[in-house]
Amino acid sequence: MRRMATGLMGLSFLFSVGLLVAGDARTKSGSDKNKVDASIRGFIKAVDPERMSKHLFYLAKDPLPYRKLNLTLPGHQRNTLYEADDYLAGKLEAAGYHVEREGVQVQAFRRDTTKPKNAQYSPPKPEDPWYTAYNLHAEKKGRSHPEKIIIVCAHKDSQSWIDSPGANDNGIGTVGVLEMACVLARYNPECTIRFLWCNEEHTPWTSKTAAQKAKARGDDIVAVFNTDGIGVKTAEQTATGKKTNVSAHTRPEGKRLAELMAEVNTRYAIGLEQRMVERTRPGDDDGSFVLAGYPAAIVTLDQGL
Ligand SMILES: [Zn+2]
Repeated sequence: MRRMATGLMGLSFLFSVGLLVAGDARTKSGSDKNKVDASIRGFIKAVDPERMSKHLFYLAKDPLPYRKLNLTLPGHQRNTLYEADDYLAGKLEAAGYHVEREGVQVQAFRRDTTKPKNAQYSPPKPEDPWYTAYNLHAEKKGRSHPEKIIIVCAHKDSQSWIDSPGANDNGIGTVGVLEMACVLARYNPECTIRFLWCNEEHTPWTSKTAAQKAKARGDDIVAVFNTDGIGVKTAEQTATGKKTNVSAHTRPEGKRLAELMAEVNTRYAIGLEQRMVERTRPGDDDGSFVLAGYPAAIVTLDQGL
């Protein structure tokens, strides 16, 4: 829970989105270019690391130690993931968003203790219980190109097969996307921005449903930014004070977005050690969109894959 690092990671992301939605500052000239730059610098100032930290502790420590469908706290009516959903929806509604909940049938993973500790998930058995997991959607309609959609997403659930707070994976991404939504709440973007909080620690991943439904509707998704584990570091890496950031793409269309991340890091002096990697195959929630036919998708994380 490194607040400044988390804030900076969130900023890096925000800038990329800002550049895309405000129009690419590189191709504009004179006062237009200055306006875009000024609006992005305004976003930077508006990001609040303290607020992000508060959300993160709420969702990953107290009162919610985990965010999973198969755990309800003693004396509570709803499971910890539903409670997290309610918290996120409440913040979004307070910022003026309409929140849409999309139900998907999922199961919790089983635990295989013969595997390494970070990969002890194993497939559920058919007789294991099914739950309804919800994708949360919130949208800013574009004013010039409403049909062009930018997805900013994060999985919000913690590991279903083990008791883990999931602060790094992926409380931070959850809070980063919430902060972006709140900062952009009064902004009128050129293209539509769709914020998505999905579930990836239960099976199947609910981003698959979101991506497949978008494809079936014929949605024109021009970019997908997934945040999963931003700010994650070992104790040794934290001690060095380096703020590493990795953008991973699967297809050439995603590479363009990863290059944009590097460019905004330099342009706005964010101070990240930005690196690009290519995925060997689609993965995580950005992979759900790649597999559904949206190749312009990347994930931002901290240390590579
Ligand atoms: Zn994750």
